[in-house]
Amino acid sequence: MKNLIVIGYVMLTLGWSLNTIAQSSLTAKKSLMLMGCGFELSASASSEKIAWQAINEGIKEISRIEKLISSWDAESKTSEVNRLAGLRPVKVDKELYDLIYRAKKVSALTDGAFDISFASMDRIWYFDQTEQHLQDSAIVNAAREKIDYQQILLNPNDTSIFLAQGMKIGFGAIGKGYAANRAKQVMSAIAGVKGGVVNASGDLLSWGESTSEEGRKISIANPKNKNQPIAWLKVNNMAIVTSGDYEKYFLSQGKRYAHIINPKTGYPTTGITSVTIICPDAELADALATSVFVLGTVNGLELINKISLVEGIIIDDEGALHQSKNLKLNYY
Ligand code: ADP
Ligand code: MG
Repeated sequence: MKNLIVIGYVMLTLGWSLNTIAQSSLTAKKSLMLMGCGFELSASASSEKIAWQAINEGIKEISRIEKLISSWDAESKTSEVNRLAGLRPVKVDKELYDLIYRAKKVSALTDGAFDISFASMDRIWYFDQTEQHLQDSAIVNAAREKIDYQQILLNPNDTSIFLAQGMKIGFGAIGKGYAANRAKQVMSAIAGVKGGVVNASGDLLSWGESTSEEGRKISIANPKNKNQPIAWLKVNNMAIVTSGDYEKYFLSQGKRYAHIINPKTGYPTTGITSVTIICPDAELADALATSVFVLGTVNGLELINKISLVEGIIIDDEGALHQSKNLKLNYY
């Protein structure tokens, strides 16, 4: 299974085999922590030096984005927007403005299932693997009222953002995807770079030609037995993003609550164990994977099936696998 990425009930391996890349190319690969999670970047190029240059440029770009969007870094522009909620609009770079604009588009597309203003709830839920009481509904409701993407006011004239009093935004569900897209852009722009992979803790973007027979093969684990792949598919020039964090959760009376919030209830979502989205754009894949958790299996699949070039796989809490209409899986 060396060449496989396994997705499904639990992600087994996230490596991307470099022997899928043309023999004549020279490759480089690096793992490191960025944006609070493990990243792995790989590149193939006409020389090893160029491959490393691509990786270093990719890392620089991801670090730059982290500084822009991190809400735990008090110095970031995003933190400034949050700090000044209810007080005054904050002028931001066009890049951050555009990211928020696109996030609001996804909110509209998902009928509010995706909402970067979910972040007002981070004073309520702590997904730190501890046992917690489910919060009193009055407390949850008070915080939930602050979630409303339509109240993220964008002024195109001066690219400023204004949040109402008590609101807060966070890019936990879209930032890694955006960073992967950008890293690909800077890496692939370097002359001599033939292909690469950015793997942001399971948000994976690959491009360039893969000449080996195996190609870039993704294996899907049997939800009932994570060591056993049940199906596979080949992808390239695609993002494959899996949501379903096995580290961020809390327990309450034996029940596990994962870190995605339903903006309509203010409570963590239930019913789905993992969502994988496959589409050309890592940012959209990232945002949609999170959205499907909130929408649930039926509405989630309906949405995926409606958008062209977007495919998905859902594993529900019962261990059943659901896939989108046009996804062609090969079964073992
Ligand atoms: P993962 O971290 O497993 O890749 P996601 O991409 O689904 O997961 O992102 C989950 C994160 O998204 C949460 O930790 C939180 O920061 C943020 N989030 C939670 N609920 C929502 C929501 N309804 N809309 C947008 N972002 C959300
Ligand atoms: Mg996401």
